[in-house]
Amino acid sequence: MMRVVMGFDCETDVGSFTPFYNGLVHGTPTILDVLKRHGITATFFFTGDAARKKPEVVRLVCDSGHEVGCHSLFHETVGDPLFDIPGIYPLLPEEVENRLYRATEVVEEFAGYRPVSFRAPRLWGSTAVVNALEKLGYEADASYPMYYFRERLAPYHPNREDWTKEGTLKLVELPNFADLSMESKDPYGRDMDQWPLFRTAGAGVLMRHIEGYTGYCKARNVEPFLCFYFHPWEMYPMPEGEIHYGECSVRPDPFIVKNCGTYAVEQLDRLIETLRDRGAQFFQARQIPQSYDKQQSRTRIQ
Ligand SMILES: [Zn+2]
Repeated sequence: MMRVVMGFDCETDVGSFTPFYNGLVHGTPTILDVLKRHGITATFFFTGDAARKKPEVVRLVCDSGHEVGCHSLFHETVGDPLFDIPGIYPLLPEEVENRLYRATEVVEEFAGYRPVSFRAPRLWGSTAVVNALEKLGYEADASYPMYYFRERLAPYHPNREDWTKEGTLKLVELPNFADLSMESKDPYGRDMDQWPLFRTAGAGVLMRHIEGYTGYCKARNVEPFLCFYFHPWEMYPMPEGEIHYGECSVRPDPFIVKNCGTYAVEQLDRLIETLRDRGAQFFQARQIPQSYDKQQSRTRIQ
């Protein structure tokens, strides 16, 4: 059995550095169409800011039967940064719980229920984040960047002292898969990561990496678990070159905006179709903790 979670992070265009929501507004309905065509549901992680500014998009996602999760308040760095970004400073550990509390409250206001699934912006989670999520009643955290830590392959209960290790939290951590079967040439291992291959190289290339990764899992007797992260802004053409936002401009790296729009939508569609053909089963993030614990107790009984 291969379990798949399709996660869509709902935030400003190109993720950070712009205040625009064109991608969220126009890209989300397109994603919903693709998911509907395949008869699957997914998790949409909204920043509090996105939920507050585009409540109609939250409504659309809810009405289509998908899960609404939380993606911080402003796409800020809530966890441990893996590299420095000028102008974006991480929260202090003592600020984390209150910030996540506020983010949760805002998403809850527009979703109509309290979110139980979370994803940290840029997959920069932390021990402070998982402890705060546990206190706030979260059940799943889809933040673990496999390309960087390269240890946990399957969902796990994180440790209170180190979120990347197994422990006793009730919360379940969902690793975002990377192709660990390949040799990395990047100091952070980013070339092993799944994102944004579907858009920059195409679904076929991503599938080859998925096969590499599932082979890696099988060799270690681990059931392959594929947690994806995509963004509605990728499904809508993003401006190439500078984006002006009032006081100055930003110019995203070419890979950030490459093939956003129709091509990305087609590749998403192809990816889902291929995974379905291989017998993948699709889950929302909130469904994983239950299925994971059931599986663990089954293994123990045997
Ligand atoms: Zn994000």
